[in-house]
Amino acid sequence: MTGRITLTDKTDTAVEILQGVRLINPLDGFDGVVDVAIDKQSVVWIRKASGKPSGLWLFPGLTDMHIHLRTPGYEDAETLETGLQAAVAGGVTAVGMMPNTTPVMDSVDMVVAVRDRGNSLGLSLIKPVPCVTVHRAGEICTDLEGFAEKGITCFSDDGSPVESREALLDAFRRISVFGGVVIEHPEVTRIAAGGSVNQGLASTETGEKGIPERAEFLDVKRCIDVLRTSGTDARLHLTHLSSPESIRLVQNAVEQGLRVTCDVTPHHLALNQQAVIKLGTVAKMNPPLRSEESRKKVVDMIGKGMVTAIASDHAPHTAARKELSLSAAAFGITGLETLLPVTLDVLGRETSLRTVDILRMLTTAPAGVLGISPPEVAAGKPLNMVLFDPQRRWDYSHTFSRSTNSPFRGTELTGKVLRVWFRRELFREGEFVQS
Ligand SMILES: [Zn+2]
Repeated sequence: MTGRITLTDKTDTAVEILQGVRLINPLDGFDGVVDVAIDKQSVVWIRKASGKPSGLWLFPGLTDMHIHLRTPGYEDAETLETGLQAAVAGGVTAVGMMPNTTPVMDSVDMVVAVRDRGNSLGLSLIKPVPCVTVHRAGEICTDLEGFAEKGITCFSDDGSPVESREALLDAFRRISVFGGVVIEHPEVTRIAAGGSVNQGLASTETGEKGIPERAEFLDVKRCIDVLRTSGTDARLHLTHLSSPESIRLVQNAVEQGLRVTCDVTPHHLALNQQAVIKLGTVAKMNPPLRSEESRKKVVDMIGKGMVTAIASDHAPHTAARKELSLSAAAFGITGLETLLPVTLDVLGRETSLRTVDILRMLTTAPAGVLGISPPEVAAGKPLNMVLFDPQRRWDYSHTFSRSTNSPFRGTELTGKVLRVWFRRELFREGEFVQS
């Protein structure tokens, strides 16, 4: 266990020492056992461990670059407070908030108001990701420069692709001026329309219309083509990729010098289409869970360093929107509280990635895409870190989210977030610390 020694310095600031923790810092690649002294706001010092290793890990707070907070419009599924509490409980101290709310996040004033309200809660940092196009309709770009003036430089029509080639081209030209990024939900809607599960075993077994992998990778290809045509150094991020072909296209683009990044969700790593056959709507998501063959290929590609980030695509829904037929139920599952244990489990078992490389995909890499300064645990820095027990087994039953639509609910997970600090201590052993 960590030390509970309290020292007192000259200014009488209480200092706590976390003894014998394995500090993993993706920013500089450090991975070693140390003692870490902290006060109420910052890391005071880091020294070689004086005693035995505690078995606990300490690393920077995670950045989950793709989540749905359902506010405004769907507060019965999630509020800023419940969503950000779920984030902190999962070790996540920065989030990219997707824009498919009601109304949609396409006006500067509204987005700034939601961001500021969320950030005033003192939980995870919100980085809003407003719409690329007005009404998220895929046709005419929003006031991208107006957003940039407010420090908002990431844009997405998530839930849908940016349908119009002209709008996408316009967006690339304009965001390249201020270093922005388009986060594309890659989907050819005319191919995917009406589908609810993977085309293949899942569509055969359930009798539902299938969504083939090409509904995803053809849009990945289109976006990369438009980026190339733009002749700009704009950045493109392809989110929640499920098809190995999509990742191959991203890799090709990177090799050609284009600024393209991508992420994969933990559930596409851990589950295949059997889950939706067995569990039904609680495992219905877009893109759908794929074949075991594709899942394995995606994991292999992550092992080869071809994927930038892991993001939860936390998508809370009320029971009323999930307790329906497969075709009628909403797409998506919650994921903030399971992001870390599920990712560490699959990538730890099925790849030869080092822990620091896995954590990079959950911290500095997504932070870089969103334009957040890279999180690190370092002397003199404000507190932004997670204490984690990699051995602890726990049942995922309680959730801080307002929704419960996770296929991992009721299962035993290994690896638990014990404490979380972001500017101050926020969370300890399952409870929020009162300020
Ligand atoms: Zn999406």
